[in-house]
Amino acid sequence: MQKSEALLNAIPDLIFTTNRAGQFLDVKASDQSLLFAPSEVFLHRTVHDVLPQPTADLVMGASVKALDSKTVQSLNYSLAVQGQEKYFEARIAPSTRDNAISIVRDITERKQIEEELKASEERYRLLFDRATDGILILSEDGTLLAVNKAFASMHGYTEAEMAGLHLRNLDTPETLQGLPARLERILAGEVLTFNVTHYHKDGRVLVLEVSSSLITADGRRLIQAFHRDITERWRTEELVREMAYYDPLTRLANRMLLRDRLTQSMLAGQRSGNYGALIFLDLDNFKPLNDEHGHGVGDLLLVEVAKRLKDGVRQIDTVARFGGDEFVVLLDDLASDKEQARIKVDLVADKIRSTLANPYVLQTPSDAFGLKKVIEHRCTVSIGVSLFLGHENTSDEILKWADLAMYKAKDAGRNTACFFDPEMQIELANRLVLEYDLREAIQKQQFCVHYQPQINTLGEITGVEALLRWQHPKRGWVQPATFIRKAEKIGQIVPLGLWVLETACTQLARWATQASTAHLTMAINVSARQFHQSDFVDQVLEVLARTGANPGRLKFELTESVLFSNLEGVITQMNVLKDVGVSFSLDDFGTGYSSLACLKRLPLAQLKIAQEFVRDILVDPDVLAIARMVLALADSMGLHVIAEGVETEAQRVLLAALGCHHYQGHLFSQALPVPEFEALLARVPN
Ligand code: C2E
Ligand code: MG
Ligand code: MG
Repeated sequence: MQKSEALLNAIPDLIFTTNRAGQFLDVKASDQSLLFAPSEVFLHRTVHDVLPQPTADLVMGASVKALDSKTVQSLNYSLAVQGQEKYFEARIAPSTRDNAISIVRDITERKQIEEELKASEERYRLLFDRATDGILILSEDGTLLAVNKAFASMHGYTEAEMAGLHLRNLDTPETLQGLPARLERILAGEVLTFNVTHYHKDGRVLVLEVSSSLITADGRRLIQAFHRDITERWRTEELVREMAYYDPLTRLANRMLLRDRLTQSMLAGQRSGNYGALIFLDLDNFKPLNDEHGHGVGDLLLVEVAKRLKDGVRQIDTVARFGGDEFVVLLDDLASDKEQARIKVDLVADKIRSTLANPYVLQTPSDAFGLKKVIEHRCTVSIGVSLFLGHENTSDEILKWADLAMYKAKDAGRNTACFFDPEMQIELANRLVLEYDLREAIQKQQFCVHYQPQINTLGEITGVEALLRWQHPKRGWVQPATFIRKAEKIGQIVPLGLWVLETACTQLARWATQASTAHLTMAINVSARQFHQSDFVDQVLEVLARTGANPGRLKFELTESVLFSNLEGVITQMNVLKDVGVSFSLDDFGTGYSSLACLKRLPLAQLKIAQEFVRDILVDPDVLAIARMVLALADSMGLHVIAEGVETEAQRVLLAALGCHHYQGHLFSQALPVPEFEALLARVPN
């Protein structure tokens, strides 16, 4: 008895015993504060005496039911206890036929928590339903447990349709690939923000920004994820990226992206120990196509070249447009052995050259009359390669070297591939110094013109060829062979050529005033680049007018390279000058490839047999045969012939026997400064 008394005292609940009439027979309260009156007050009173009417009715109802049905009844009610609203949960059990025991528990605190929870749940539900972000509750394995309206409609579904789906029903393959790793991190407690791509119900791809974390509900570990549709924003960004990193015409990577990729590739090489290669390509003779058919056709060719390049390399290799008609192919991860890597690149370069060499059929868009032109074009490419390993060199160096090797390939006759070797760098350094010096030389007037006599069969001097000389303050006399081509390349030939023209015409005008020199003709070399300047003819006319030189005594020496592009324009210019009396000689004849048909159309006065032929004419029967042919040809076309580089009397005699009656060469004199030339003139017969 004592034991059960102690037990009862330990129970925090109130324990009442009542009879069928509702009279309190016993009250136990370990915590008296739960009672609104001291426990003695209850005894012999009824439920109706102590509780407010509605509550008393409830308690009595349950109590009678417990006695009648002999089962435990429970009910909840609230009551003001000592000025405070409290909630109780009562369980009423029959103890004898007429008596019932009620165990009443204070659930005020629990009730409050429940209320708060309910409120917060309502708030959450509201948030869930009305949020513009798509909210998703996932099970640990990625099954969709709950989705809000926004999430469903973002994907083109109703909420009901989404029930039971798994993420893999929505994820694109790329997103799905990363799913297990993401789930693992979130389940480990990380809060992740990332982008995914999902399929919309209609099949299009959505780009979503997701913020996801682990939540626990009812003891279950769940994943909550907020989704924001950023498809539009992403598209705009993509467009911007596309514009920043891709060439709009060919859609190849541009310079900037190429630099990025090269840096990555160097990093990868650093790790793997494998060589990579940068292949620099430049289309041969692209400019003439552009000049002749317009930029539209040039563009068509570039697009086709880009396509062939892309098709010709592995998916992982980068193909970039470097600018104009220059392309770059970046090969990764070739081999750890340099020679092996070289062999691999050689194969790729060969393949590129052969695919690019296939004929191009370029169809122009319709013109104003709805006509389309179809142009068949052939084009070769010069290729320069530099191999690289990790960060041995900078990306700038790698690019520069490939470019350098490409120029080497061009020099070697185009349509070839050249690998960079360190000697090229020395050459480059020399070239740069020379370029610098050349610019300075024009300003500092380090040039002068020497005159080499031209002789007839009688040994009389009929004229001169003006040859440029450069007296360098440190290097001494620099030969035109070393600097004329450089000057052409960097465009300096234009001012330089103009200076020669001016100087030689001034000299010609001066000689015209003296009886001993008035008969002399003046031959001036004009390089292709100079001749193709649009204002060349005007400049000549202007110099003639200013110096008063007689155009009838002026002869321009053109090389066959002038005829490589824009032949029509060349002929027009020649005719304009011919009309004022200037004549033309084709220099170094026999070394180029001009066709007879082309020759016939040019208003030429003279062919100049190349020095190479004169040199070998006595020893090589083939050369002799060619010389014979050239003379027959000239005869049939009514052209004069002069042989240059005549060094021996034997050569001169043979040439004369073949019908060549004008000569130039060391046999008579080298090119001389004016006073020496005039002294020579005074000595020879006239
Ligand atoms: P080119 O017009 O064929 O000039 C003939 C070259 O042969 C000259 O070389 C001349 O000095 C050299 N030569 C003359 N006779 C003999 C000989 O008997 N034996 C040998 N071995 N050589 C002889 P140079 O002066 O060094 O000029 C080289 C080239 O540079 C010229 O070839 C010409 O293409 C170009 N050049 C010279 N001056 C000018 C110029 O003012 N303007 C342009 N655009 N080019 C020029
Ligand atoms: Mg010449
Ligand atoms: Mg010559």
